[in-house]
Amino acid sequence: MSTDPALAATTSRAVIDLGAIAHNARVLAQRTTAPWMAVVKADAYGHGLAQVATTCLGAGASWLGVAQLAEALSLRAALDAAGIARPEPGPEAAADPRAPRLMTWIAPVLSAERAQAPDSPLRAALAADLDLSASTVGQARAIAAAARAHGAPARVHLKVDTGMSRGGATAEELAEVAGALRAAEQDGALCVVGLWSHLSRADEPESGSTRDHLERFHAAAEQVERSGLRPTVRHLAATGGLLWHPETHLDLVRAGIGLYGLSPNPATATSQELGLRPAMTLQAELIQVKRLHAGQAVSYGGTWSAPEERWVGLVPLGYADGLPRSASSCGPVSVAGIWAPIVGRVCMDQVVIDLGPARDADGVARPAPAVEGQTAVLWGDPAQAPHPVPTADDWARACGTINYEIVTRLGARVPRRHIPADGRVD
Ligand SMILES: *Cc1c(COP(=O)(O)O)cnc(C)c1O
Repeated sequence: MSTDPALAATTSRAVIDLGAIAHNARVLAQRTTAPWMAVVKADAYGHGLAQVATTCLGAGASWLGVAQLAEALSLRAALDAAGIARPEPGPEAAADPRAPRLMTWIAPVLSAERAQAPDSPLRAALAADLDLSASTVGQARAIAAAARAHGAPARVHLKVDTGMSRGGATAEELAEVAGALRAAEQDGALCVVGLWSHLSRADEPESGSTRDHLERFHAAAEQVERSGLRPTVRHLAATGGLLWHPETHLDLVRAGIGLYGLSPNPATATSQELGLRPAMTLQAELIQVKRLHAGQAVSYGGTWSAPEERWVGLVPLGYADGLPRSASSCGPVSVAGIWAPIVGRVCMDQVVIDLGPARDADGVARPAPAVEGQTAVLWGDPAQAPHPVPTADDWARACGTINYEIVTRLGARVPRRHIPADGRVD
């Protein structure tokens, strides 16, 4: 038992089943022959950076990816602390789960002068043995300047825009960006090890969009080759590409949402259909149960009123914990084997849930179906729960968003409890 008083004082928790993450990793890896990157940005989609990263390495990930440079530096520190080796320096493509490559794709905009300063974030990136992304001439110059000051060549992935119109060099910009990178490469400041992009509609296989992306990607690869660069790690697919577009797997796939047991698009295939297990269960204890009279309004604005005498429960989670306020009067919750939706507005720290009528059809008083201290589940894995529980997909549907947002926005105030993957048979 934990003796940490702060932990003992908490009233909610996200239980993260690392065995489910290891299972999902194996299910996804079976669908490709390419090496794979575990995408652990945003605190591993809310699941806990270090725990998820080490679990994925155990399941065969040879790359780890995060969006922001600051996250990558934290990840490197966590891996160092866990005794996980750094990869060999140099341009080799091969990566190994025992010494994984770490990639980041969002860094601050720096002048060459600022990039080479002793406290430059790009020098910190190189000291942490990170693979970096470059989409612009400015980024290429900054990375080269940092690498010259650092005294070893940087590993760079040239990002091209193949139709997402987010990051990446456009077809018009590509020659100039590739030229700047090639000049720096010949100068020994960096090595372009990768060529990469991101798919905008891989989760809608019928759209035909991925075919267009792939065509543009191959055209970009030819142009990059003409500029003298020889990137050996070409990568394009996230979970959607991994699942539904095998032709996009190339030399590396980047798996995010699927690792967490969620489908990139439940309308295309549900997590259950994909054999994935949702890894996060969000729970809280009921801190109060009470009876309301008919017509009694609930929460700020009184937007919901009890249609009859009604039992309600108080759940100590609110929008400060990441519950969307759009879950007001609809977010599904399960407690004591019953479905007890949120009624009234989501508050900062609490929500009220409807536990049902306080009298039966004959007017006889009914006891409350749940008691104070009992565990309410907001979302989890129905296959693992003794009673039906809502899923992150149910929440996404109720709130007009996607499962990615439901799990990722879970607040820092909610403690994560990790169930180790070790010894778990699945
Ligand atoms: C987040 C992200 C991924 C992972 O996407 P999923 O759909 O969660 O698998 C892959 N690549 C990039 C560039 C990303 O930003």
